[in-house]
Amino acid sequence: MSIFTGDRVELDEVDTSDSNDRATAVIAARLDRQNLLTRPNIANVDQVFIVQAIHQPEWNGLLCDRYLVHLQLELPAVRPFICVNKCDLATDEEISALRNIYESAGYKVFFLSAKERIGLDELRRYLAGNKSVLTGPSGVGKSSILNALNPELNLKVDVNEELLVGRHTTTATELYKVPSERSAGVSPASTNPLSDGWIADTPGYSLDQLRHPEPAEVAWQFPELAALAEECKFSDCLHLVEQNCNVLSHEAELPASRYDSYRTIVAESQQEQRLRQETSQKVETGVVKYVGGSEGRGKSIPKLSNRHRAVSRRREKQQLTDFDAADEEGLNDDWIADDDDE
Ligand code: GDP
Ligand code: ZN
Repeated sequence: MSIFTGDRVELDEVDTSDSNDRATAVIAARLDRQNLLTRPNIANVDQVFIVQAIHQPEWNGLLCDRYLVHLQLELPAVRPFICVNKCDLATDEEISALRNIYESAGYKVFFLSAKERIGLDELRRYLAGNKSVLTGPSGVGKSSILNALNPELNLKVDVNEELLVGRHTTTATELYKVPSERSAGVSPASTNPLSDGWIADTPGYSLDQLRHPEPAEVAWQFPELAALAEECKFSDCLHLVEQNCNVLSHEAELPASRYDSYRTIVAESQQEQRLRQETSQKVETGVVKYVGGSEGRGKSIPKLSNRHRAVSRRREKQQLTDFDAADEEGLNDDWIADDDDE
C-alpha cells in the first residue's frame, strides 16, 4: 500500500500517551483517492496554483503555458489558477496585459505581492477548506507567499538571487496550514465558518518532466483556441498552416504569446511522437540496454533520445526555467534507470 502526502487513511492503535504531545498510530487502510499529482506525489488535490514572478525572474509566458498544459493533463478535473507574484515591481500596464491574456482564456489570475502583502486576502479565501498545491520555478516567491499567509511557518526564503538559478530548496512534500480569515484575524467579526486551508509547496518541474498531449490534442489545452478549433473543417487540424482553419482565420484576435506557446508545444509533441515511433522500431531490432543486473535479470530500457531519457537524480533536483539550457543539459549520454518514467 503506497501512502502519499494528502492521502486519507484509517488509523488503528492510536497512542496519545507520549509525554511530548505526539501521537503514534498504525495506518490500517488508505481510503480511495480522488486524484494523484505526481512529482512530487500528492493525493486528493483540490486546486493547483501556478506561481510565477512578473519580474525577477522575468515573466515567461511559455513557461506559464507549459505548466498549465501539464497540470491540466495531470489533474483533468482541476482547472489551475495562476498567481503572478512580485507585482510591486510591475507597472499597471504590465499587470493588465497579463490579466487580458489569461482572464479572457477563462483562467482565474491572482496578482500578488508577498512583499507588500497585496492580494493575499483573496488568495486566503480560495485556500480555505481546500487542499492546494503551489507550484512554479524557484525564486518566484512561493515560500514568501506561504510565510505571508502564515508567519508561523517561517519558511526559508532565498535572499541571494544569484544562487537561485538551477536549484531549489524545497525537499520534502509537506502540507502547511493556512489559517482561514477568521483564525488569521483578518475579519474577526465574520460569521462565515471558514475552515483552514492546507497547502503543499513543490519545487516545480524541470522541462523534461512536463507532459505533452498528442499533437492534435494540444489545442484542447488552450481554452481560447479550443473554442475556435471546434469549428475547424478537419478534426485532425493542427491549426498551423491548414486551409479553412478557423483558428488561423482568427489568429489576429488571439494573444500572440499564447499562440506562440501553442505552436512550440505542438512542435515538441510531434517530435516526441517521431521519437516514440523510432524507439519502437529500435526495440524491435534489439537496441536496448540492460540496467540493474545482467541480461535476463536487469531491467531493459529502450535506447531513447535525450529528451526521453529518464531524469537523473541530479537533474531532477534542478529547476530549469530556460528551454535552451534544458536542451544542453540533455546532451549527456548516461543511462539512468528510473522507475517513475515507465
Ligand atoms: P521560492 O523559491 O519560489 O520559494 O521564492 P522565495 O520565497 O524564496 O523568494 C525568492 C526571492 O524573491 C527572495 O529574495 C524574496 O525576498 C523575493 N520575493 C518574494 N516575494 C516577493 C515580492 O512579492 N516582491 C518582491 N519584490 N520580491 C519578492
Ligand atoms: Zn484548425
